[in-house]
Amino acid sequence: MIPYARQSIDEEDIARVVEVLRSDFLTQGPVVPEFEHAVSRRCGSTHAVATSNATAALHLACAALGVGPGDTVWTSPNTFVASANCARYCGAGVDFVDIDPATFTIGIAALTAKLEQAAAAGRSPKAIVAVDFAGQPCHLEALAALKDRYGFYLIEDASHAVGASYRGEPVGNGRYADITIFSFHPVKILTTGEGGMALTSNANLAERMALLRSHGVTRDPSLMDNSAAEPWEYEQLALGFNYRMTEIQAALGLSQLARLDTFLERRRAIAARYDCELADLPMTLPRQNADGSSAYHLYPVRIHSGEAAIDRRDVYDALVARGIRPNVHYIPVHLQPYYRALGFAPGDFPQAEAYYREALSLPMYAALGDEEQTTVIQALHDTFGELQ
Ligand SMILES: *Cc1c(COP(=O)(O)O)cnc(C)c1O
Repeated sequence: MIPYARQSIDEEDIARVVEVLRSDFLTQGPVVPEFEHAVSRRCGSTHAVATSNATAALHLACAALGVGPGDTVWTSPNTFVASANCARYCGAGVDFVDIDPATFTIGIAALTAKLEQAAAAGRSPKAIVAVDFAGQPCHLEALAALKDRYGFYLIEDASHAVGASYRGEPVGNGRYADITIFSFHPVKILTTGEGGMALTSNANLAERMALLRSHGVTRDPSLMDNSAAEPWEYEQLALGFNYRMTEIQAALGLSQLARLDTFLERRRAIAARYDCELADLPMTLPRQNADGSSAYHLYPVRIHSGEAAIDRRDVYDALVARGIRPNVHYIPVHLQPYYRALGFAPGDFPQAEAYYREALSLPMYAALGDEEQTTVIQALHDTFGELQ
């Protein structure tokens, strides 16, 4: 079965992990900070906080920015549920902004209108979680301009976009977002098994996230109430969590990071070949924003159910029958039972809902071979030939 995504693990990755297993530290040792520095260097950030997963990093980001009860956080419905749940963990409300129908990222026109209304009603959002969907950076400059005008915090959920760039600069460099989040889940660009990271150029936010990552506990005498503490003492300064990354995860991440350019090159080559060899089929291929260079976590196409009368489900089934398992990204978050129970309903965000009805994510990962891609392309041509 050819999946929609999978990890690429080589012998060097395995050797680095085994090395840690033979070392003194499995957690809270030297490799996590080494990984944090390496990602910071690569992405041009000044601070990075590695976490057990990206969901934890999103939670830490909201907590460090002071999101709490009475606040509202906005995101787009075309994302994984974690982009919204992070606000709920802090007791804040969630609202959504419909997507840009061309790039499937948060729509700037919809956002501008909604911000204006919210400001007039005195209900401006505390933070916006903007998702670099499929690996394509959102309209960061426009978001930053709105942030300046309306005074919200910008969290960039770049779970899909490790290695992407915007206007020639790496995603995560802190030019636009207060905090940028990466995921290292095995389907993403780089993996640590489970893992995530929060990047920021703000030292206070970094310090706060690092504190909350580990129970809110510090051993730094300069931060402690009792400055004459005994050498074994620690103080809990806030209600934190255990969201630490292990040394095992960080070793895998460091080894994977060395191949980031190779991974990106391969993903972009796969995308270029799909762009070319699927162009004559009744699908919309993912359009790229000229300002950005996608990391191509996903290759999401839209199957036109309209005039060609081809159903996305039929294409999905036909590919599965041919040994290919595509996926669908995303079921709009506001339509999840949990969010419906909070008052959201079908029709609330029509662009995201229309996109979802037609979306199909084709196999896209660095380890996808040329012959496997040929199988996928041929299967799509055969499928449309049969269904038309
Ligand atoms: C994968 C993903 C997450 C969550 O990542 P984990 O590391 O699995 O917690 C959050 N947001 C988006 C957009 C994702 O794709």
